Amino acid sequence: MRGTDHVPIRCAALTGKVGERAACGIYEWRPNPCRELEPGSYGCEKARARHGMAPLDPQML
Ligand code: SF4
Repeated sequence: MRGTDHVPIRCAALTGKVGERAACGIYEWRPNPCRELEPGSYGCEKARARHGMAPLDPQML
């Protein structure tokens, strides 16, 4: 959870630029909350909106 004490919040493991090209630098070892977040879920869409991103196309899921 390193990075959550910064403003804006940004996970220390996140590489790249959100909305363009981003990746998890510890994907194989990511914590359970990250593993449990499903694409298109309420939490996912809320995070996308926070970054000015459009909702996911349900046909892409
Ligand atoms: S999946 Fe989790 S650990 Fe990986 S960058 Fe995103 S918030 Fe960080």
